[in-house]
Amino acid sequence: MKTKTTLCTLVCTLALTAGAFSQPDFDKVEIKVHPVAGQVSYLEGAGGNIGVFVGDDGVFLIDDQYAPLTDKIVAAVKTLSDKPIRFLVNTHMHPDHTGGNENFGKMGTLIFGHENVRSQMAAAKATQEPPLVTFGEDMSFHINGETVYVFKVPDAHTNGDAYIVFKDTNAIHTGDVYRTTSYPYIDTANGGSFLGTIKAYDLLIEISNADTKIIPGHGVISSVADVRAFRDMLLVIRDRVSRAISDGKTLEQIQAAGLTKEYDAKWESGRRIGSAAAMLEAAHQDLAN
Ligand SMILES: [Zn+2]
Repeated sequence: MKTKTTLCTLVCTLALTAGAFSQPDFDKVEIKVHPVAGQVSYLEGAGGNIGVFVGDDGVFLIDDQYAPLTDKIVAAVKTLSDKPIRFLVNTHMHPDHTGGNENFGKMGTLIFGHENVRSQMAAAKATQEPPLVTFGEDMSFHINGETVYVFKVPDAHTNGDAYIVFKDTNAIHTGDVYRTTSYPYIDTANGGSFLGTIKAYDLLIEISNADTKIIPGHGVISSVADVRAFRDMLLVIRDRVSRAISDGKTLEQIQAAGLTKEYDAKWESGRRIGSAAAMLEAAHQDLAN
């Protein structure tokens, strides 16, 4: 029985890794520039949204999608600034956010990330280059006339997630903790947590106001009201899962009970990442113990 479980864990993890980050046809990918506010924009291509902050001191990037897209990303950045790309922060360790690290490193860009980004990459034998500079709790960049505050949030999507806050511009890049494309994906194999995700949303709400532009890891610019509604949905789901566990239901029964029914049309991804089933599994893992 134990062997079977171990084998399943291994096979499922491999299948998940392959399926989760199945790579697009890079030749066809276009990088689109979306203005956010002030000197902050984001780039949409394939993979996570790239934050771009430009000014006299140089270009500051958040995440870098996949390695084959680096030239296109650099060309898109050039439409915003001809200054060097000096700093890059990885919001977390997933390959659709860190795949370009090696290329940017070779260009002389200094790459930062939470210390767990580096250790999780090593543990996962990731092929991406890890950040050269790591932080524990937080760090600040004082560039382009603004303070950019980067800090670790409660374990949520992974255990190495950071928010990047542009204080004067009033914009926040959340990495994949918050996405507008599906239910939250909680990567429990890399330290993610369902209850931690709720705490990370509480924190995002606390540090935002009605004018804050929230840049999600995937999807479109959101307001604090959008995040509040998303958080409130998770609170409802949390309470339903708790009740089901108290009623003695198994994970399989919880996944089959329609606990997310009224939200599925909007948020079900139809694949494992961003599915109700995967989210309920993560919720069950936190709440059953
Ligand atoms: Zn991710």
